[in-house]
Amino acid sequence: MDDTSQPNPTGLRALRELFPVLEQTINGAPLAYLDNAATTQIAQPVLDAMRGFEHRDRANIHRGVHTLSQRATDAFERAREDLKRYVGAGPSHELVFTSGTTDALNMVALGLSIGGERPPVIEPGDQIIVSGIEHHANLVPWQQAARRSGATLSILQPDAQGRLDARDLARLLSPRTRVFAVTACANATGERPPFEEMLALAAEAGALTVLDAAQAVSHEVPAIDALACDFMAFSGHKMYGPMGTGVLVGRRAALERLVPLRFGGDMVQWVTQTGASFAELPARLEGGTPNVAGAVGLAAAAAFIDKVGRGEIDAHVRALRANAAAGLAAIEGVTVLSPEASASAIVSFVAQGAHPHDIGTLLDEQGVAVRTGHHCAQPLIDHLGLGPTTRASFALYNTHDEVERLLAGVARAMEVLR
Ligand code: PLP
Repeated sequence: MDDTSQPNPTGLRALRELFPVLEQTINGAPLAYLDNAATTQIAQPVLDAMRGFEHRDRANIHRGVHTLSQRATDAFERAREDLKRYVGAGPSHELVFTSGTTDALNMVALGLSIGGERPPVIEPGDQIIVSGIEHHANLVPWQQAARRSGATLSILQPDAQGRLDARDLARLLSPRTRVFAVTACANATGERPPFEEMLALAAEAGALTVLDAAQAVSHEVPAIDALACDFMAFSGHKMYGPMGTGVLVGRRAALERLVPLRFGGDMVQWVTQTGASFAELPARLEGGTPNVAGAVGLAAAAAFIDKVGRGEIDAHVRALRANAAAGLAAIEGVTVLSPEASASAIVSFVAQGAHPHDIGTLLDEQGVAVRTGHHCAQPLIDHLGLGPTTRASFALYNTHDEVERLLAGVARAMEVLR
């Protein structure tokens, strides 16, 4: 397919310059980086913002009267406000910096199920509902929460194609449902569940609601203000930002119900030798020195996405996905997972008689980077009964030409391996 025949690639293609890592050859071929659901590349404006902070303003925050400390505090708090705006948080929301989605979801699951100053929110006999299409990061913490609290863990089962149905959720909800957790996009298949409707149903039933936005936040950013969502989590490294950064954003009243899990400096109000009282949000959940340059970089990543245009990025990655899914399905022996998932940047497939590991290795020999395996979503992969998959995932800098190289590489791998 001709690159220029596709809608709007020209502006986005120019942005490739802002990702110097893409300008290299791998095994003698230009790098086609199609592993963006695992980690996107970092944008130059993000690096510039982080370097600017480190070169001019680096100091510890919140506890210094000197100029650098004040500047660092301002930069950190400005990043918080910028990110709140990015996700459409209103005055009744608060945003806590974390090291990523996993960290944020653990803060919620354990913070609701472990007792602290108050009894835990989740009690023996309560119900936690988690969808069956989740990344392990939105499943294992809930398994632990159920174990520690004596609650029951119910799985909202997907159909044979990995799709969720809100009517199934309605049947599962009960007066004892304390939590419902779901992803905005399944990382293993690219399926986008009707999370808006499901969150509303769960909230109506009196449950706290959790949205894992890790795979949506770089192109289809859910506006939390418009959702029945108590907690939303995402990671910086999946949105052109720094690794080891992330966000837990949610309703202030819901965040206040979380028991802090990290005790120490900055999250306390007063301390005696035998006890302590804790600060207000957000500090209460941010014990210790935070990754200030990371927060600055994360806010710069959000600004970068907005400058490029969320709608434009979303349309581009969807078009790449659609092209890749159609092309892969046309290769004999290849089955695309969630073939109808049109709202994501992820395409996952299995190939008869060819192991994903071997496909991935052969693609790498041609400079095409994809991910293989169960994608930290083992229960979903087991449910689909297809075994490990090969996954290609797209970002704003990818081109239709790279999709063509993926398709040619898979076709060639099938010839060699079958
Ligand atoms: N949730 C989803 C849907 C993901 O795709 C991922 C990472 O792949 C995570 C959670 C975990 O993110 P992190 O490793 O940044 O904590």
